[in-house]
Amino acid sequence: MTSRRKFITKAALTSGAALVSTKTFGASHNHIESEQRLKILVTGAHPDDPETGMGGTINKFTSLGHEVVCVYLTTGEAGIPGLTHDKAAQIRKEEAMKACEILKARPVFLGQIDGSTEITSKWYHKMYELLNKEKPDMVFTHWPIDTHRDHRICSNLTFDAWNSTGRKAAFYYYEVVAGGQTQNFQPDTFVDISSVIETKWKACFIHKSQKIKEYYPDDHAKMELFRGIESGADYGEAFVHHRLSPYGIIP
Ligand SMILES: [Zn+2]
Repeated sequence: MTSRRKFITKAALTSGAALVSTKTFGASHNHIESEQRLKILVTGAHPDDPETGMGGTINKFTSLGHEVVCVYLTTGEAGIPGLTHDKAAQIRKEEAMKACEILKARPVFLGQIDGSTEITSKWYHKMYELLNKEKPDMVFTHWPIDTHRDHRICSNLTFDAWNSTGRKAAFYYYEVVAGGQTQNFQPDTFVDISSVIETKWKACFIHKSQKIKEYYPDDHAKMELFRGIESGADYGEAFVHHRLSPYGIIP
């Protein structure tokens, strides 16, 4: 990930392990500076959300030796017309597992139901327990203003867990189908994904049940090109950093 503000560079990967205080615009921030293997947790409402939103960044992280955990809130039960929830979930779980294999990430399925996601104290607690157990250095989730209810709920549960576990991880939001789903998204952090674009596409297109290859030119391809133009790359992915969290490592 390339931050416009350049707080973190690749050099940070070889310059010791610590939270470092950085002064900027009169405010004090911490950022992660580490030569150790980091754990990065990415939450998405459905199989394909982490991949289409930030598959290039995930692959850059894992290629650098960091651990990425893709957490799927649902298993896409409602995503294949004509099939039962059980059958659709089975197909979409297999697709997500193959996508994670391509990106070298570890999948986790939380067990909510696609299209019927819930925010309850039970689910706040489940997400809290996940973050408490995994202890990630960086967390990524959906931007909370999104037309898809499941995306909003995933974002909300993840934010609450991060907040409740002491805001220790660097916290970032990613976008999916900008304009059509994610809205009012003004990124401050960019990743040049040109070197891994074909791996990202492979991981996205493995979701054959969602016909992603067919729809890709009209949504995610435009995002990749536009975020690339904004950040001076051929292809880019974009993020919003939560200003009360540490800054993460930028791959
Ligand atoms: Zn989704």
